[in-house]
This record gives sequence, structure tokens and C-alpha cells, in this order.
Amino acid sequence: MTQKSLPSLTPTGTCWCGCAKKVGTGSFFAPGHDKVAEAALLAVEYGSSVAQLLHGHGYGPGHSVSARAVSEGVWLTCPACDYVGAPASITNHTKKAHAAAIGDHAQGAER
Ligand SMILES: [Zn+2]
Ligand SMILES: [Zn+2]
Repeated sequence: MTQKSLPSLTPTGTCWCGCAKKVGTGSFFAPGHDKVAEAALLAVEYGSSVAQLLHGHGYGPGHSVSARAVSEGVWLTCPACDYVGAPASITNHTKKAHAAAIGDHAQGAER
């Protein structure tokens, strides 16, 4: 896999959003706080603009970040249409959009 290697992080027992709440072992965030931290990062670094975020990482209309995700192997393309997404999203999408066509193939794919 060509995905860039990320450092391995270890949960510390307190929420990584910085609110100092205690969280269970194995969790980085109190429920929902990952979204708060994500939004705060976007606000601080990119003026709450996803377009700025994409541009800052070299993506944009001419360089598709979703195509990159697929080529890196972290996202999949729907076998029946051009929808792309994380494996769990593909499972959902397949069930909703292609339930009749795929039939029992989609069954059991969800945990
Ligand atoms: Zn928090
Ligand atoms: Zn599809």
C-alpha cells in the first residue's frame, strides 16, 4: 500500500480535543468531541473552508482527493456505479442504491 505512513498514536485517557474530560481506555475523544476538534482545526487553520483545506493539501477541481483516496486503497469505488467512499460507506450505498441488483451479496457485509 502506498498510503503515507502516519505516526502511531496512543490514547492518553483524556479527550484529545483538549477539554480534559476523562475518556475510556482505547478512546481518543469523548463522544462527539472528535467532530468538535475537527471543526476547530478547520476554523483555525483554514478559515472553516473545506476548499482552503483541499487547496492547502494540493487538491482541488483539477486534482481529485476522492480519486486519490481510491488509488491509495483507503476508499473503494462502487462496483455498480461511480460512487466512491470508505468501505463502510460503500456497503451502505450499495444497500440503498443497488439493493435489488446486488441482492444477497450485500448481506452480511455489515458488522
Ligand atoms: Zn473533548
Ligand atoms: Zn453504486
